[in-house]
Amino acid sequence: MSQLIFKSECLNAALEGRRASPAEMTDMISLTLNTNNTELLEAASILRMRHKSKTTTFSKKAFLNVVNLCRDTCTYCTYKAEPIQAKVSMMSRRQIDDSLALAKRYGCIEALLVTGERPEERYPQAKKWLDENGFASTADCLVYASEKALEMGLFPHTNAGNLTGDEMAELQKTNVSLGLMLESASDRLTEPGMPHHRAPSKLPAERLAVLAEAGRLGIPMTTGLLLGIGENIHETVMSLDTIRSIHETYGNIQEVILQNFQPKTDTAMRGKPPADRWYLMAVVAACRVMMPKTNIQIPPNLSPDSYSSFLSAGINDWGGVSPLTPDYVNPEFPWPALDKLRQNTEAAGFELDCRFPVYPEFAHMVKYNDLRHKMAESGTDSLLVRRDLWM
Ligand code: SF4
Repeated sequence: MSQLIFKSECLNAALEGRRASPAEMTDMISLTLNTNNTELLEAASILRMRHKSKTTTFSKKAFLNVVNLCRDTCTYCTYKAEPIQAKVSMMSRRQIDDSLALAKRYGCIEALLVTGERPEERYPQAKKWLDENGFASTADCLVYASEKALEMGLFPHTNAGNLTGDEMAELQKTNVSLGLMLESASDRLTEPGMPHHRAPSKLPAERLAVLAEAGRLGIPMTTGLLLGIGENIHETVMSLDTIRSIHETYGNIQEVILQNFQPKTDTAMRGKPPADRWYLMAVVAACRVMMPKTNIQIPPNLSPDSYSSFLSAGINDWGGVSPLTPDYVNPEFPWPALDKLRQNTEAAGFELDCRFPVYPEFAHMVKYNDLRHKMAESGTDSLLVRRDLWM
């Protein structure tokens, strides 16, 4: 018997545990954006409290910009560098070691290891960097950085684009989770004139194959969407539905990041408007209704004046926040100070806690005993990080 809280029957049904269809959610987002109807947000708020209560997590991280040369070109990306640019980064073994040591001194828990997509396939400079440091490939460098991070008491989380099954299996020995943004499941965004036209690694089929392979390997994955890059509402909902399907098949999607596009002055998309806040809010709510138990993150630095308002629309995580390093993907947006993040979270009626790069409910997927022991040493009974280590 329906509770009949809402006029929208699909939301009443979702509260009773029925799977929300893409067509219903496309309609609900449109209704939210085109009228004053707030039922989608209210339903998401109920589901968030039901499945996540008041806990809101973040990961205290250091961002290691391991190599930012990239085989691909996405027209919104300022992270990617050319070899002649001052912002280029190709970290030596020594620089990796020193950065990890500094991260440890700053009390970080996570070492986020980021690279461009297979830079050695395009740039001789990247091949030279690998040779000089004795690495066979970018993935080989990431294995080194991950081992070093663990040795120093940090938990690596690698986001290096489309890794092969063998590469992921090797990183699984040191990484409690890996990251790969889907960005969008829309093939249209890979057509001429669209943001992923010159980024073959962003072909949805390629990204989905990697997420599925990670699923077969039993690796918890962080994925998500970049919103406001030219997609339409139907495509956004189909992207969420695709992520939901992967999780229903493999059970390995630990988190969905909903990242709002912010134009960068040095990119081809500099003239495009940033993603609309109300659109982001409606997509967050739709994601919560479609995947009631999933962990949903928005990066607080990309909504500096309004991030706490997303708590009531369904998010339960702020992602990685660093006391030390910039967000190299959005360098113009500093992360909030942890005290401020906690104050704003509490002022909105929620509680802040620190998680490992793997969420508690996915920790059972961590295969290697060494990683489990390290988490047990630093963790609480709830598999979150001990407060004395991050506060
Ligand atoms: S977003 Fe990633 S794949 Fe695209 S250009 Fe930037 S670094 Fe390369």
